[in-house]
Amino acid sequence: MKQISIFVVLLLFAINSFAQRELGVRPTETGGPLMFEQAVYDVQSYDVSLNVDPKAKSISGTTVMTARTDIPTNVIVLDLDLPYTISKVSDGVSDLKYERKEGKIWIWFPLTKQVGDEIKTSISYSGVPRVAPKPPWIGGFMWAKTPGGADWISVALQNDGADLLFPCKDHPSDKPATASMHTTVPDPLIATGPGKLENVKKNPDGTSTYNWRMTNPISNYSIVFNAAPYKLIEDTYKSVAGDTMPIEFYILPESFEKGASLMAEQKKYLAYYEKYLGPFPFRSQRVGIVETPHLGMEHSTNIAYGNKYQYDADGTDWLLLHEFGHEYWANLVTASDWRDFWIHEGFQSYMDTLYQEHLHGKDAYFAAMKARQTVTKNNKGFKNKQPVAPREPKIAYQVYMSEPDYLDSDGDIYGKGAYILHSLRYLIGDDAFFRALRRMAYPTKEMEKLTDGRQTRLVNTDDFLTIAEQESKMDLDWFFELYLRQPKLPKLVTETAGDTLNLRWETPNNLPFPMPVDVEINGKTQRVEMKDGKGSVSFTGTAPVVDTKGWVLRVQ
Ligand SMILES: [Zn+2]
Repeated sequence: MKQISIFVVLLLFAINSFAQRELGVRPTETGGPLMFEQAVYDVQSYDVSLNVDPKAKSISGTTVMTARTDIPTNVIVLDLDLPYTISKVSDGVSDLKYERKEGKIWIWFPLTKQVGDEIKTSISYSGVPRVAPKPPWIGGFMWAKTPGGADWISVALQNDGADLLFPCKDHPSDKPATASMHTTVPDPLIATGPGKLENVKKNPDGTSTYNWRMTNPISNYSIVFNAAPYKLIEDTYKSVAGDTMPIEFYILPESFEKGASLMAEQKKYLAYYEKYLGPFPFRSQRVGIVETPHLGMEHSTNIAYGNKYQYDADGTDWLLLHEFGHEYWANLVTASDWRDFWIHEGFQSYMDTLYQEHLHGKDAYFAAMKARQTVTKNNKGFKNKQPVAPREPKIAYQVYMSEPDYLDSDGDIYGKGAYILHSLRYLIGDDAFFRALRRMAYPTKEMEKLTDGRQTRLVNTDDFLTIAEQESKMDLDWFFELYLRQPKLPKLVTETAGDTLNLRWETPNNLPFPMPVDVEINGKTQRVEMKDGKGSVSFTGTAPVVDTKGWVLRVQ
């Protein structure tokens, strides 16, 4: 029985991977070193109005940005994708002087903005948006059709940036505190958006405007809409924090019958994440899911779901489990630079695998984790070509995609990131590890209670190093340095001399690596400390077996 379930797990993990895609296209740029003219201001809100014309496959609209001045300036820069034409730039009252240079809009103010001054820009634009070549990995618009032949419009642009949809400061370090979307679509399409649906306005021209508002900080790439003749499944969930929140699932009419079982699964995932990480972070908004023509994306409170209701043998929808978990690792806790993308994907991939332990126990967890590194027809294992967490600012594709041409996904921020956390769990022990994981989500118990946006924060890899060191009371620099800051894996060299097994770590650039390792002797497991990267253990009888559980990430 156990063997069968592990086999099933292995099989599924080999197939169900969001990472490791041969895509053949490079995304456009998002993130990277922040320009001075963008560092001078801090975005407070985006108000995005869009008119969507499925016939012409075009959009027109106006985006109003408000920001606070951080450094005195009379010029700022926003990003907007090249296919769009700008018709007007103003401060809401008077026109502003502007100039477009490639994908950037330079905007000048008549008077220098002083620190703390409000900046307001209103930009009207129109055009035929970029069609996503390989959504959701390489993004843009999708002008799809439902099985019944209706328009089904979707947008996914994480790796390319929200400038594919509206003018914005295209950098992960600046999340607006609030965002509004006013999406006008032809009837009977229904447009979803972030946060809560405030109202719907029927227009005389056979269109309707859906007014959505998110009142928690949100990443630019989550400020997107989807449109179809959706039906709405509504439910509620009582959080561990005590409050009851709405669950809304916008589903195609053709899929409606399948919605109930997905909703039931969704509630299991909520309970799972709340158990390990704390209360669902957006209780003041909603749990939102929307059926999309692409596989999926973690759009906050408006999770894109496109896995077509395919369940694993144990009933899990791996895609929804994954995307929904990003409400914690990406939306609650957001990397301030794409160099730390692994805090989204590696942490979430770890949660995906931990779910196996949650459902089936530790053997299933070990099997699923091992499967991440095992090279099969469908799984390339780890590439080890670029650091999981490089130190320099990066544009998204430099981390998500693989060197040198960035045409295929690299995948290491997913599976290798998860495996690094797995090895950290072994090193510091379950108690410290799960406390650190939870504190990375919510640094304090107080923050777990907040729902007004102050619970969210921007993070980097060193934040997690600090938390893990505090919780374990161990020095972990060496662990982070070897596994995250450079790409190569350590190698464990074992030699038997008489009745002694000698172990030693061979590391890239001779990096210090006092990583202990389990050794099984005559069926008994003992932990061998590896001070200075070396250790030994004596034995009698059969030869010892090293790290039978696969705890420690290393050259296989
Ligand atoms: Zn993900």
